[in-house]
Amino acid sequence: MAKKRRKTAIITGVTGQDGSYMAELLLSKEYEVYGLMRRVSTWNSRRIDHLLEHPHFHKKYGDLDDHASLIALTVDVKPDEFYNFGAMSQVRISFEIPRDTITTNTLGVLTILDAIRRFSPKTRFYQASSSEMFGEPGVPVPFNEKTPMIPQNPYGVSKLAAYHLTQQYRHGYGLFATTGILFNHESPRRGENFVTKKVTQAVARIKKGKQNFLMLGNLDAKRDWGWAPEFVEAIHTIMRLDKPDVFVVATGETHSIREFVEEAFGHVGLDWKKFVKIQEDLKRPNDVPLLLGDATKMRRATGWKPKMKFKDIVREMVKYDLEHV
Ligand code: NAP
Repeated sequence: MAKKRRKTAIITGVTGQDGSYMAELLLSKEYEVYGLMRRVSTWNSRRIDHLLEHPHFHKKYGDLDDHASLIALTVDVKPDEFYNFGAMSQVRISFEIPRDTITTNTLGVLTILDAIRRFSPKTRFYQASSSEMFGEPGVPVPFNEKTPMIPQNPYGVSKLAAYHLTQQYRHGYGLFATTGILFNHESPRRGENFVTKKVTQAVARIKKGKQNFLMLGNLDAKRDWGWAPEFVEAIHTIMRLDKPDVFVVATGETHSIREFVEEAFGHVGLDWKKFVKIQEDLKRPNDVPLLLGDATKMRRATGWKPKMKFKDIVREMVKYDLEHV
């Protein structure tokens, strides 16, 4: 009997939170996975170190700013699926490096879409869109696929442009170019310069006497926080649908950063007010006060529903950091 062909997938941003979870998910489903990593001066593969010797995982050097490498990888692999998770993904830092943010998050996507159109038109493409594409004050929550998108930061602008390019390649060229507008999602693998991870790592260090204070910016911002492994499953589900589309992926619950802090310190029996200090320059020039998503379309199309609750997410992150800091 002929051996079943393994599906192939390219993942950009494979060293990041979502990319690493997606690589694990696809390998568990017997894909051949090609993970795009950029060359940096310190080893940046700790989230995927356990996959590097997997016989069906292939590490490929490339960069979203090096368009030749994106085209070459697309042409060489002609993958069944292409997941674009790579990005300059930190909102506050995008105010400091706006040009780099736009180049990486928008032009990289354009190059991938065009390479797929020209050389591998059957490839299914997923673009990681973000709730930061919303955010104009006064627009009523919850946000769904029809809510006006008026971003408030360079990151949101870069993602919105990439979102429109994805739509254009779908409508104009008939590509399976699909996207999820994902609200915040967290895990122990969250990057250290995101507020949730910064909080849970500080809680663990303070508890162990290795840190005295935690410096934060705006505690009032509210976010819709989900669990990254569940959100990655949602993305894989979107890629299985008959048609490409746009889906909000969110929990439908919102909590302030203050609530996150209180919950995290409470988990180790500490009063957060004794350890948290406000540092003005950590506030964004222009903040989005409230993000809350409505994932009704996603639920109706796929049956997907988040299971992890806010308190469980905070607990899991603190637990991990207590064991690892
Ligand atoms: P992340 O942990 O910050 O990972 C970003 C990845 O992109 C890393 O692997 C990073 O590589 C890579 N990258 C950055 N610049 C690159 C470049 N020039 N060329 C190639 N790769 C580059 O982000 P995440 O949380 O996994 O998020 C995945 C995607 O979803 C991102 O596009 C993000 O904007 C989007 N998103 C995330 C959320 C969320 O709450 N997590 C919500 C909505 C949308 P290094 O490891 O070398 O830095």
